[in-house]
Amino acid sequence: MRPPSEPSEPAERSEDAWLRAVASRFPAGPRVETGIGHDAACVRLDGRLAVVKTDAVIDGVDFRLAECGPEAAARKAVAVTASDLAATASVPRAAVVAVALPRGAPFALFDGLARGLAAATAECGCDLVGGDTSTYDGPLAVTVALVGEPGPMGVVRRSGARPGDALSVTGALGGSILGRHLTFAPRLREALVLAEGRVPHAMMDLSDGLAADLPRLCAASGVGADVDAERVPVHADARRAPGPGTPLSRALADGEDFELLVAHAPLEPAALAALAARGVVLVRVGTVTAAAGVLRLVTGGVAAPFPRGGYDHLRAPPRPA
Ligand SMILES: [Mg+2]
Repeated sequence: MRPPSEPSEPAERSEDAWLRAVASRFPAGPRVETGIGHDAACVRLDGRLAVVKTDAVIDGVDFRLAECGPEAAARKAVAVTASDLAATASVPRAAVVAVALPRGAPFALFDGLARGLAAATAECGCDLVGGDTSTYDGPLAVTVALVGEPGPMGVVRRSGARPGDALSVTGALGGSILGRHLTFAPRLREALVLAEGRVPHAMMDLSDGLAADLPRLCAASGVGADVDAERVPVHADARRAPGPGTPLSRALADGEDFELLVAHAPLEPAALAALAARGVVLVRVGTVTAAAGVLRLVTGGVAAPFPRGGYDHLRAPPRPA
């Protein structure tokens, strides 16, 4: 038997490029309503739709255990996964968790994780119903999978944005490293309010930054976008956070804001006020255009190419130990 030949390297070292290179190995079967390439998948089971999503967080990459402790780490593992269900306007129902403990870890670590998992799943309104524990010579890793049900609009996808739509976000962006990347609340309630109002044409959560995530939404929808630099809500943390870049560049590229990015028909002030009265603030940052794949950042009426970037695990430099 011949050994399998060495695969050719994708043109680009990025999560998106690597996923595109292998996606054809996973053809969607008849039960698949929404498959690879969206924030969460949706499958039909006995006539009903189930939404599924998994996410992993790792010490030294997604949190620093020595600084934040196990409760916050476990909470983040649940919250990042729930944020992807929020992106599809779905409702989490059950969670399972796989924990990879550093070999020799004390019970206090395990117990701290359990406390964080219990609090976070309760916050999300779902039950933790099982999981798996292993140990190895590596850092703590917590992987959560959620199963949920579609909300009142069904599963909202990234692919429904139309030329002329407004592009809005649900909160200020940038500087999450100062703490919000651990403490954010997934926008589950906000997503359901938007779905009840039939607002989103397309939606996703901002996990890797507008600079990485807006191109994904545009690609899925076959559209382009103009972003108004003056309208991007820059979080106070983006001005305080150390490191290179301007507050605006940090708002666009830092990632882990976990706000929703929504493409929707432009709304009258009264409709925006009604949403705000229900706790959902939509900040318009731009407009969807028909120019597929063309993204521009407009500053003072002058358009420039939208900065691509944001966080990508395959491009991230190694972190100091
Ligand atoms: Mg997402």
